[in-house]
Parts: sequence; structure tokens; C-alpha cells
Amino acid sequence: MKLRSNCHTHTVFCDGKATPEEMVLAALDKGFAALGFSVHSPMFTPADWTVRPACLKAYTEEIRRLQRVYGERIEILHGIELDRNFSDVDPSDFDYVIAAVHQIVVGERVYDVDYTREMLCDCADKEFGGDFLALAAHYYEDFASFVCRVQPDIVAHFDLIEKFNEDQTLFSQDDPAYQTIALAAMDRILEGCPDALFEVNTGAMFRLGKKAPYPAPFLLRHLFEKGARVIVTADAHCTDALDFAFDTALEAVRAAGFSEVYELRKAGFAAVGC
Ligand SMILES: [Zn+2]
Ligand SMILES: [Zn+2]
Repeated sequence: MKLRSNCHTHTVFCDGKATPEEMVLAALDKGFAALGFSVHSPMFTPADWTVRPACLKAYTEEIRRLQRVYGERIEILHGIELDRNFSDVDPSDFDYVIAAVHQIVVGERVYDVDYTREMLCDCADKEFGGDFLALAAHYYEDFASFVCRVQPDIVAHFDLIEKFNEDQTLFSQDDPAYQTIALAAMDRILEGCPDALFEVNTGAMFRLGKKAPYPAPFLLRHLFEKGARVIVTADAHCTDALDFAFDTALEAVRAAGFSEVYELRKAGFAAVGC
């Protein structure tokens, strides 16, 4: 089967490379039935990858314009990727909300955990005595609290702290202590926000050449065992990425036991066999 939508799409309104219209035209070329935009929310803490608060209205107006121009050929949705440290935004203004944690904040100090491996290591060294399990505990605890508080439609890249750890030298996915920390946070989300979809996100496969999507296989298996719902997303920042490695993501989903995934549609997220 072929997926025909992506709900995790960035543009020049935040850290993407293409305009929303270029993304729509690429989605049409790919035969998509739906495309959802998910601008990075404005933040309390400084970051150069978010939408500026003054541009949020223009983002909304541009998505509405594209809905008018292209709406008969493709469903276009107005979403947001809401960060843990969001500000100046009302989540109810959007068709759907993706919840994400991209930063570890300790006191006044802010670390983007998905920016560079150096920044992640710097955070571990300075704040957690070099203990990546302590960093993981902080990250997952914060993530679960945030998701339960904002009740999003979608939980973004659950194990983002894996981004620069493909060689497994920072910590090991197989370490029972790590798995216990991650699974406890996942269970908190499953209990506190039971309707949320978990995304299977291929963004780092496109941008870093990683071999597998988020989340790791042990987490995907847990989601299946708990009866959770999953959605494949590209976390696309350019037109070429819009459906990148969707086949690999579907293989990972099937390997975890799933026989269906969800797809974005205007009428709501729809189950499709995989
Ligand atoms: Zn993100
Ligand atoms: Zn994103």
C-alpha cells in the first residue's frame, strides 16, 4: 500500500526550505490526498527554528489561501507542532496539534537536543554529570507531563534523544534501565492522553541518513501491545522529503505487529490497512 498524506510539514514560515505552495504542488505531484502543515510554535526560550510570533497570522492566512486555491484537488490542513516551551499561541486555533519536546531546559539554560550531537553531549555533561540515563529520565518525564497537559492529536518523534545516537555510543536502546525510563513515559501518555496518535517519523532518515524511523522497535512493539494508534509522518522540511522512506516506516510498523496505520484527512484521522 502507498500512503497518500503527510501531516508533519515545515515551510519557510519556520525552518523549512520551501514555501507552503511549493509543498502543496509537490504533494499533488506525489498523488497525495491530504497535506497538513505543522509550523513550529513560537517559544518562551530563544530558538531560530520556530515561527516568529508576528508571522503566525500570515502563516494561517497563507494556508487558508491555499485551501481556497487547491482545496478541490487536495485536502489541506492547518496544524501546528507545539513545543513544550511554546508561547503566544492558542492551540485551539489549529485543525490539529502535534506535541513535541525539542529542548531540555534547566534553570535559565536551554539545550536543543536535536540540534547537534555536541549540544546533546554538552547538556549531558553540564547538567547530568555525563549520565545519559539521567538526561533521558529528564527528557521523558518532561515530555509525558507536557503531552498529558496539552492533549494533542499526535505525539511527535517520541525518542528524539536517539537522533545522534545511531551508533549507540551515548546510551544503548537495549539497556533495560533506558527501556524502563522510556516505557514508563510512554505508559503515562497512553493513560493520560489515550486518544493521541504516535507518529512514526522518518525525518532523521532524510536529514541524517539514519536507517530507521522514530520510535525504536521496542517502543513500537509496546505501542502495538497496548493497542495504541500510529501515523507515519515525514517531518518534511523540503519538497523531496514529503514521503521519504514511508515504505521503511511501514515495514517497521508491520514488524511491530500493526496491521493498520492512520492517515490525515479533513474529516479526521482515518485508519488504513498496511
Ligand atoms: Zn519536531
Ligand atoms: Zn517537525
